[in-house]
Amino acid sequence: MLIGVPKESYPGERRVALVPLVVPNLGKAGFTVAIESGAGTEAGYPDALYAEKGAKVLPDRKAVFAQADIVVQVLCYGSNDLTGKADVPLLRRGQVLIGFLRPLGSADVLQEIARTGITSFSVELMPRTTRAQSMDALSSMGTICGYKAVLIAADTLPRIFPMLTTAAGTVTPARILVIGAGVAGLQAIATARRLGAVVSAYDMRPAAKEQVQSLGGRFVELPIEAKDAQDARGYGTAQDESFYARQRELLTRVVGESDVVVTTAVVPGKKAPTLITKAMVQGMAPGSVIFDLAAERGGNCELTRAGETVVEYGVTIIGRINVASAVPYHASQMYARNLTAFLLNLVKDGKVRSEKDDDIIRDTLLTRDGEIVNARVREFLNLPAPAASSR
Ligand code: NAD
Repeated sequence: MLIGVPKESYPGERRVALVPLVVPNLGKAGFTVAIESGAGTEAGYPDALYAEKGAKVLPDRKAVFAQADIVVQVLCYGSNDLTGKADVPLLRRGQVLIGFLRPLGSADVLQEIARTGITSFSVELMPRTTRAQSMDALSSMGTICGYKAVLIAADTLPRIFPMLTTAAGTVTPARILVIGAGVAGLQAIATARRLGAVVSAYDMRPAAKEQVQSLGGRFVELPIEAKDAQDARGYGTAQDESFYARQRELLTRVVGESDVVVTTAVVPGKKAPTLITKAMVQGMAPGSVIFDLAAERGGNCELTRAGETVVEYGVTIIGRINVASAVPYHASQMYARNLTAFLLNLVKDGKVRSEKDDDIIRDTLLTRDGEIVNARVREFLNLPAPAASSR
């Protein structure tokens, strides 16, 4: 089976879906890898490295789509809402497509993908089970984003992070607040701690407390309790507006005392909750920094502008999107390992296995034979339940 790796087309995207390191592993399992020439260059993987590991290098995008039984991408059409549409005519019935497809995004785009007849697998739908951990691309990219957000915030802050005692006196450490202690938030905590900052963190899921503390962070306890804070998959759940209003009120003091706030609070398929208001920004010291990792999902800060960095009331609010692409070497390596684990589970003896025998395949399968077949996505889009055979 031939796995095709086209060059990513989203503007500014530097990652690549497979790196040379995984080519021999895939080869042992009977796959041939073919990359579009230049696909890995921006991530630090020139064509020659792929060829050395046994991959084919094809001259253009069309050739990759035409020859591939399985196409793997980072941002497929769906998550690539700017240039991804151009790939639609290149997809063919029965071909397999794996990548970020934004399954809880636009219904029209998903239907358009379905109509091509491809069998698509969305990495966002990976179950949160021990067996699927090695395939969990959201966690990999969350790790990268949490790390990079802290480095960018540190670079932007007009202060240093660690406490220093020097001949010129003592410098007090920076105070960092992380709101949302999922994968990205936990990595932000760990990174800020390594840089010597004093770190506090808050999450509405009580389970996060122990994880924050194990990384040396102080857990911010608020006297409110979320209703069913966590769903069966471990994700935070949407709360009503009165809950968010109370959160904002209670977070005001701790936000005002922080030099850097990194926000990561998101709920699958929903706009991110507003947890920092304009008034709360006004209450921060000039020079403070907010890195809103939820910018792409509507932002946790009222003043965030997705894709931009703005300065309001002396506070720099960073709304960068696609942050993982700023660490393309390791983001690609982690993603490639996730995809390799997924592919080795998906294909046995040269055939795509049935989803009936495997929860990972069933949960990630998004479209097939012209239809959106994923039960969770159909429910989200208010489509009638799929026929029993495609569940
Ligand atoms: P996420 O990216 O969906 O959200 C980030 C965080 O924001 C979550 O911790 C969520 O609780 C929090 N949040 C949402 N709304 C909030 C609000 N109003 N106020 C405060 N916090 C809010 O989360 P994630 O990174 O996917 O992680 C969620 C959990 O799943 C974590 O406990 C993580 O360790 C776990 N997880 C498990 C596996 C696995 O077992 N295979 C894999 C990945 C993650």
